[in-house]
Amino acid sequence: MFIDTHAHLFYHNFENDLDKVIERAKNSDVNFIIVPGTDIETSKKAIELADKYDIIYAAVGVHPHDTKDWNNSLIQQIEELATHKKVVAIGEIGLDYFYDFSPKEKQIEAFTSQIDISLKMNKPIIVHNRDANFDMMNIIRSYKGSNLKAQFHCFAGSLEDARELIELRHYISFTGNITFKNMSSLRSILSRVSVENLLLETDSPFMTPVPHRGERNEPSNVKLVAEKIAEVHNLRTEDVARTTSYNAFKLFGIGMKPKVSFTYQIGKSLYINVTNRCNADCVFCDRKGDAMINGYNLKMSKAEEPDAEVYIKEIGDPKNYSEIVFCGYGEPTIRWDVVKEVAKYVKENGGKTRMNTDGHGNYINKKDITPELKDLIDVVSISLNSTDAEQYAKLMRVDPSLHNEMIDFAKKAKNYTHVVMSIVGLSEIDKEAAKNFVTHELGVDFREREYF
Ligand code: SF4
Ligand SMILES: [Zn+2]
Ligand SMILES: [Zn+2]
Repeated sequence: MFIDTHAHLFYHNFENDLDKVIERAKNSDVNFIIVPGTDIETSKKAIELADKYDIIYAAVGVHPHDTKDWNNSLIQQIEELATHKKVVAIGEIGLDYFYDFSPKEKQIEAFTSQIDISLKMNKPIIVHNRDANFDMMNIIRSYKGSNLKAQFHCFAGSLEDARELIELRHYISFTGNITFKNMSSLRSILSRVSVENLLLETDSPFMTPVPHRGERNEPSNVKLVAEKIAEVHNLRTEDVARTTSYNAFKLFGIGMKPKVSFTYQIGKSLYINVTNRCNADCVFCDRKGDAMINGYNLKMSKAEEPDAEVYIKEIGDPKNYSEIVFCGYGEPTIRWDVVKEVAKYVKENGGKTRMNTDGHGNYINKKDITPELKDLIDVVSISLNSTDAEQYAKLMRVDPSLHNEMIDFAKKAKNYTHVVMSIVGLSEIDKEAAKNFVTHELGVDFREREYF
């Protein structure tokens, strides 16, 4: 269930007990381990380990510490090593101005040459960055628009850097240092980065998490890193494991895409994947793409949409969850009868219900469904998206008249249930205007969903 994306298992201190280390990793639910080389010799060793152990994959490259003697003949050697079927990345590569073991110019030359290898070979890079944020960000920025995909391991940049890297669709990972007492600033950055942009790593044999600090680190400890991430994000460890494993699948091609989920748990809430169909086609929505959320696959065809009984069976006792939420990559009111049947079961059995909707339920069902919300749906969360009808229509790719439709739905719904209106925090949206409109003119609650 866990993937340790960064463990230097070729280090001499693993020489005597690597079989046991791998065994302990497997017993701790570690499905895969990526071993990144740091020079040509250790890249070869990483490949040898990948050949020997089924759960190991390799990355090949020259670490900034070892770029002193970088020359172009190394390019061909790395390219050759990278053709091995278990080499999933070029790494670890990057910049390290803290130790400064190699001149900066050499580090930059080696780094950019190896990025070019990754583009040529269509493999991601695993990036090491220490005290070199300015140059690092400039270099990464210069590849905007290319196919570059990267993992920023042992992340040490700022929140702004994290945001920018995520916008560029790169991934970030933190090591056991997020468990250290004096690392609250790092945990604060971690708390602002969605798990959907994270990978797990140990950086073995270094960065051993609490309570094993001081000992040699090993992949079985990746669970402690995942537990800390879960704690910071108020999630379950399995939520972190599932989401980051899928991220590793996307970036490195390790593992596989999960089967469709009809219900899915995140934290203490259970979500109902009602449908993948929608009357809208929002520019920011991945409904027609992968339709994955937190490692769950919500992509289902109309024929696969289950009956209410299937959901009810999966829910079991609704009191086991803080709430049952009708929400997926689709508009739940398209299957309003199913929602009602499931909600009735939840309410009769002491559970709480919420429905996330685009607010077009009356238009979709060609009747006013809001009186039916009473005693069935405790909270209706409506996507406001924008107070401006034209902008709304553009964002959702719907007719502008649906803006009024949605407002009308909110006004009517508040007579029967608790209404919350939300916007996605896109930079072009006037959030203050939205908040004022929602709280003062409509008299319902407002929520902003962060988007980056
Ligand atoms: S309304 Fe919701 S499900 Fe439909 S396209 Fe927009 S974001 Fe996606
Ligand atoms: Zn590193
Ligand atoms: Zn490393």
